Amino acid sequence: MAAAARWCAALLLCAGPGLLTLAQAAPQAVAHAAHAAAHPKPQASQPSHPAAPKASPAAHLAEPCKQWVPRLPGLSAAQCSALKLQPSGTRSVQARELWMGDVGARNAPVKVLVLGAIHGDELSASTVALQWMGLAQDNGADALWRFVPMLNPDGVMAQPARRVNAHGVDLNRNFPTPGWAQEAPRYWAQRTRKDPRRWPGNKPLSEPESRFVHDQMTAFTPDLIVSIHAPYGVLDFDGPTDPPRRLGRLMLDPVGVFPGSLGYYGGMHKGVPVVTIELPNAQRAPLLAETRQMWLDLHRWMGEHLPAKTASAAQPARAP
Ligand SMILES: [Zn+2]
Repeated sequence: MAAAARWCAALLLCAGPGLLTLAQAAPQAVAHAAHAAAHPKPQASQPSHPAAPKASPAAHLAEPCKQWVPRLPGLSAAQCSALKLQPSGTRSVQARELWMGDVGARNAPVKVLVLGAIHGDELSASTVALQWMGLAQDNGADALWRFVPMLNPDGVMAQPARRVNAHGVDLNRNFPTPGWAQEAPRYWAQRTRKDPRRWPGNKPLSEPESRFVHDQMTAFTPDLIVSIHAPYGVLDFDGPTDPPRRLGRLMLDPVGVFPGSLGYYGGMHKGVPVVTIELPNAQRAPLLAETRQMWLDLHRWMGEHLPAKTASAAQPARAP
């Protein structure tokens, strides 16, 4: 009950636009936002002289926004810059940094890992992950969130964008599920008819991007993983608890178990709930109201289904 009440409080905060209320919940986040508003970043590359060469719209942005804003649908430069993403220190096959961001209290009772664009041609997945990160900075103090908005940057930045990574591996078939050595290649050969978009790789965790997720599961020990995809417009779930029935307009519709998938590995093998979001369109981001509703619905489900680990939450006060 205590956990549910706490999450209900978070929901009210999410729904209310009042900065004062938010300041009580997440003073650091609000201070950040207030600072950013009061001290906008100097736009060094904006021409100060009319004759100066014209800069591209994203030229003044720091990494990774310089690359991401022109590439991702529905992502503004201001939104991206405000997030203050950090380098993870891990790079993709083509040496692109895997950027990440932590939001929330270190001692929060629940830890959530949010992954965007494990498939590189699902551009809207990165946008939603980034928008959720913005929502978490304003309203997400009840959990520790780790966002990796673009897990497959080589696929996203390819022209055209590619589902697989630069080695041609479907990262979401590269996790060490039981029997991978037999099941993954057999599934690929027989069920996908050797679809190059779904090649699981030569061995599990052969890729730096999938190893990074695996390392995060070990080091960050999330209580929940949310992996954002597109374009099937459904919600999927793997794990030991009751699934969310809907997030926003997306309804639960289990899509099955695939050898090497993150859902199979995390949810069924390691016992960490994995919510898989399939946005309805890979090229177009949902309206912000819809993104926000998905976030609110996830919060509600978390409050009802994820065990809180703090002493006060685990042992609610009892009447004498
Ligand atoms: Zn996908």
